[in-house]
Amino acid sequence: MDSTGAFIDQTERFSAHNYAPLPVVISSGEGAWVTDVEGRRYLDCLAAYSALNFGHRHPAMVAAAHAQLDRLTLTSRAFGNDRLGEFCQRLAELAGKQMVLPMNTGAEAVESGIKVARAWGYRVKGVPDGRARIIVASGNFHGRTTTIVGFSSDPDARNGFGPFASGFDVVPYGDADALAAAITDETVAVLIEPIQGEAGVILPPDGYLARVRRITAEHDVLFIADEIQSGLGRTGATFECENAGVVPDLYLLGKALGAGIVPVSAVVGDAEVLGVLRPGEHGSTFGGNPLAAAVGIAVIGLLSTGEFQARARELGAHLARRLQGLLGHGVAQVRVRGLWAGVDVDPGLATGRRVCELLAGRGILAKETHGSTIRLAPPLVITEEELDLAADQFAAVLADL
Ligand code: PLP
Repeated sequence: MDSTGAFIDQTERFSAHNYAPLPVVISSGEGAWVTDVEGRRYLDCLAAYSALNFGHRHPAMVAAAHAQLDRLTLTSRAFGNDRLGEFCQRLAELAGKQMVLPMNTGAEAVESGIKVARAWGYRVKGVPDGRARIIVASGNFHGRTTTIVGFSSDPDARNGFGPFASGFDVVPYGDADALAAAITDETVAVLIEPIQGEAGVILPPDGYLARVRRITAEHDVLFIADEIQSGLGRTGATFECENAGVVPDLYLLGKALGAGIVPVSAVVGDAEVLGVLRPGEHGSTFGGNPLAAAVGIAVIGLLSTGEFQARARELGAHLARRLQGLLGHGVAQVRVRGLWAGVDVDPGLATGRRVCELLAGRGILAKETHGSTIRLAPPLVITEEELDLAADQFAAVLADL
């Protein structure tokens, strides 16, 4: 079997239909580039939703994984392993926090953050048992478990999957007054994305995160920042919260923490909060495994130099300039932070899906989110020339519509 169609048919026939991928079947990748089964090359401007911030098969990441593969891959948490402590220490130091709860996927980190916040609410804040409430924002995307989709405002994510867990209050994203008004004595946490990625790279108003920080501190409520997509270099800083000058109580991290090699996620916070968990109350067979820890340590090593954050800032400014040039030429609005952009194509011209198909035809991989918004999140190893190529092809697609 060697044609794209045959691979797609096989996948369609034997995998659940919970995705509708673009008709591109990739068989290898390096840096910012991938190659399909027919030898066509594409510039990857999605980077697996920011899981590939350091590019495909970054040599130092692959070397760290290989070295660990040759030694030890899994112990479960029934025993210790000689990589977990270093991973947790280095990640805690990177975040300026005291402790790490290692998990695997982003949704697991979110679920873990919810459990920790509730336990903190009962054991530290003194909320009556079973009454804890968590405030979330409309337009959120925190993953796909039943608890998480239960507080989504996206009907496709939610409808048909209830009943859902209770205890969540949804307020408009970006509206700090609404958030303040929703807080009660039973509120234990506010859970928000510093930038809403899946919603279309939605930037909150200036000062919003700082106000959320102030309001939560005043009311003894935890501020949980879901930096699973925004964190680890993407926005030109290690965390988007850093750009906003705020420090949340808990960071939720994932995606790029595993360098696109293994799933690695984490909740990071101080002992006063994360320390509430007791043995037997939470866990994961794979969470904190030595292979994940070794890759995570290597990722933290890359982030410790600041090089990738600087690249995202500098190249992001270039990307912003190029995308602004498309305004009025089929593009209605552009939002950019670091090397992360939401581009709203005029919905009268084409769907986002159609634009992405045409981009793929021109060797650029990107993904629409919600209607006609195209999200660009290339690996941070991309060059300025490659960004120009992507912007030129985007302009050509728009001109052809
Ligand atoms: N939180 C945010 C902000 C995300 O963007 C995502 C994934 O896109 C998740 C959580 C869920 O991560 P995962 O798909 O690894 O479960």
